[in-house]
Amino acid sequence: MRALLVEDDEMIAASLRQGLAREGWSLDWAADGLSGERALADGAYACVLLDLGLPGQEGTTLLRRARARGDRTPVVVLTARDGLDDRVAGLDLGADDYLPKPFALRELLARMRAVVRRQGGAAQPCIGTPQLQLDLATRELHLPDGRREPLSAREFALMHALLERPGAVLARAQLEQRLYGWDDEVSSNALDVLIYGLRRRLGADAIRNVRGLGWRVSTQAPGTPGAPANGLAHAAPPTSGHGRD
Ligand code: CA
Repeated sequence: MRALLVEDDEMIAASLRQGLAREGWSLDWAADGLSGERALADGAYACVLLDLGLPGQEGTTLLRRARARGDRTPVVVLTARDGLDDRVAGLDLGADDYLPKPFALRELLARMRAVVRRQGGAAQPCIGTPQLQLDLATRELHLPDGRREPLSAREFALMHALLERPGAVLARAQLEQRLYGWDDEVSSNALDVLIYGLRRRLGADAIRNVRGLGWRVSTQAPGTPGAPANGLAHAAPPTSGHGRD
């Protein structure tokens, strides 16, 4: 999944990028308040990590303006200002959580998972369809036959995007935006390779291609009348240059 870090401390940015990458997060970094606001406005982030003391524009201003224009992206405030007043002010402005520096990476990751989960409206740590449940805590897919399929970081981000709104068709650009950060080198068929690999393991009907539009997860049980069983036709291995559909 993609997160945005708005933080002027380069050391913190570098170590967070490394630490989060190990857990499958792709982190974009904005070093001041204004570029942070621009990135948030056109990004598709699962979560924002926001420092308050920033050059150009304070983190509190960024947060207030984002909420004022209706941006509901979960925000975890990271700041040395751990006084009660600052904490309350941050939460009042619409932050979802607050973590004073210095913090442990594990705690940050747990809080990120929690705000993303709450955003999905899930009281329990699973989202999805009756056939396909994604466990946000363990990052496994629960399949109808009882199998639990562990997912790679990218596979998890893809399934999270699709299962957040079951049945909705997501275009290639929307999915790529959810999967890859600014610095990621992405080959033109990376998404096809990812989807191909998942279909092989989950069944060809688990992720449907809607020709010319994008992909969606099936909301019908396999074999249900009306559920096309032709997914195999789309499960041909992706080849280089193929798949800009
Ligand atoms: Ca700062």
